[in-house]
Amino acid sequence: MTLACAGIGIGVIRSIAIGEAWHLRRGRIEARRRFISAAEVEDETARFRQAVEAARQDLKAVRDHIPKSTPTDISAFIDTHLLMLEDAALAEGPLETIREQHCSAEWALQLRCNALVQVFDEMEDPYLRTRKDDVTHVANQIQKHLQARQDKPVGAEDLNGKIILAQDLTPADTILMRNQGIAAFVTEFGGPMSHTAILARSLGIPAIVGAHHATQYLQQGELLIVDARRGVVLADPDERMLEHFRKQLAAEQAHTASLQALVDRPSVTADGTAITLMANIELPEDIKATAGVDAAGVGLYRTEFLYMNRDSPPNEEEHLETYRRVIEGLNGIPITIRTLDLGADKEVERCCHAPPPASNPALGLRAIRLCLKEPELFRPQLRAILRASAFGPVRIMIPMLSNIQELRTVKSLIEEVKGELKREGLAFDSAIPVGGMIEVPAAALAADSFARHLDFLSIGTNDLIQYTLAIDRIDDEVNYLYDPLHPSILRLIQQVIQAGRAAGKPVSMCGEMAGNPLYIPLLLGMGLREFSMRPGSLLEAKRIVRSSDVGRLTECVKDLMARIDEEDPVQLLSQLNSATH
Ligand code: PEP
Ligand code: MG
Repeated sequence: MTLACAGIGIGVIRSIAIGEAWHLRRGRIEARRRFISAAEVEDETARFRQAVEAARQDLKAVRDHIPKSTPTDISAFIDTHLLMLEDAALAEGPLETIREQHCSAEWALQLRCNALVQVFDEMEDPYLRTRKDDVTHVANQIQKHLQARQDKPVGAEDLNGKIILAQDLTPADTILMRNQGIAAFVTEFGGPMSHTAILARSLGIPAIVGAHHATQYLQQGELLIVDARRGVVLADPDERMLEHFRKQLAAEQAHTASLQALVDRPSVTADGTAITLMANIELPEDIKATAGVDAAGVGLYRTEFLYMNRDSPPNEEEHLETYRRVIEGLNGIPITIRTLDLGADKEVERCCHAPPPASNPALGLRAIRLCLKEPELFRPQLRAILRASAFGPVRIMIPMLSNIQELRTVKSLIEEVKGELKREGLAFDSAIPVGGMIEVPAAALAADSFARHLDFLSIGTNDLIQYTLAIDRIDDEVNYLYDPLHPSILRLIQQVIQAGRAAGKPVSMCGEMAGNPLYIPLLLGMGLREFSMRPGSLLEAKRIVRSSDVGRLTECVKDLMARIDEEDPVQLLSQLNSATH
């Protein structure tokens, strides 16, 4: 028996799966070049229109069968594809080509699809570049009808426990397969920000994306091990290897089950320090997960999804209705609503008020900068957040602050809005706490000043690392430089925690670092007492908190910080973690 490492890609859910390979043949459907006579042009355009309509009916049928329990953003993916079917570029463009070039509908569609894919390919933003997959998916749906292809529908086979291999997956396929109990999937295309990856995360399916040539090397029916923690697929494993991974899988499952016992246990360190563990949420549906892990609150509610896939910004009532539902669903735990953070990595197609293209969007009109420039975007949200505070404990959090003047402007806007609401007789919490994200190095260096002007601080490590180390957080090429342990990052974090403490203001962390088990002891030793993370990471964080001795960690972290410039930070962290657990 040989063991082949069949592919290396990007692991999406840090988990293992073992199962039989199942090829889902859903590659791009190619068309042959074919020309028609002038007399055939009208029939050909009619044939194209029928194919578009048939593709629309297919997608609608999938959308109508999405189980109620799945997050709403999944239907939004399908809606995006439906909208593309209405877009002139795909739905009308080929008609022109048929008329002008006298070619078949299949060939006209392929030409149009190639041109669109090239436009996306040339985009600088890696997130937008991945949107070309959507164009291909939609074109395939039409092509399938034009070529009368009878792909076996997903659902016609028993996929339970199978590891799906595909060049790429459509959101529709992903949803249908998840409902059939697939063990994992591996795709050749797609990056960490692709729709497929986002869906896998949202649906909790172990997945590897971007595993080039995986469908060529892996055989139908052969046994595979997907190690999504490392982004590798192992093919045809021998008994020893299989045994090793089966044990790991069983240990992983046992560990997850054992964490359930911690749900009702207090989040207190072994030496008696209370630690606040909160959840990051994005969709109203994340509330269930938050309640399931008994989070102390929501430390970051990202509101960008409210603005996606629409032509005009949500109005005040829409904001309010969404926030009210979230607050009621949280049963009284406090929620920190972050105001709109649009721009850079949170660029969304077809988003109303998307910032104009910038040569460097991460440094451009993003987040609070955009909101202050476009009050009609910001005001309805501020009014709604304030009004929502009448339904439960709400805090406002401002992203990407970089100077105090900006903060003063935001605060006076909030006061203005409060005055309006008072005059209109609308209820709100007049003492609503206003906090800020510390995610720009300038703000971290001036944290003492921000701490004086704000009610709380929250460290956004995702951006703080990006901006401090000058690396685009979604650019694969420089991902290797993304280093939470860089001495500059650790110093900035420590400085913010100390500034908050000196001013008597709570400091939390809501970037990915807060939920990573590796860094929690370090952060505790630095003095961090509030953490906010994906709900799925919270019980593991509680386990670490409960077994930590903050007194000892404080001493060890002092020592680590004294040695950080001279020694390897990874080694130092590993020594800290093994000495304190
Ligand atoms: C951060 O930057 O760390 C953060 C939590 O915000 P986002 O990831 O939404 O930019
Ligand atoms: Mg951020």
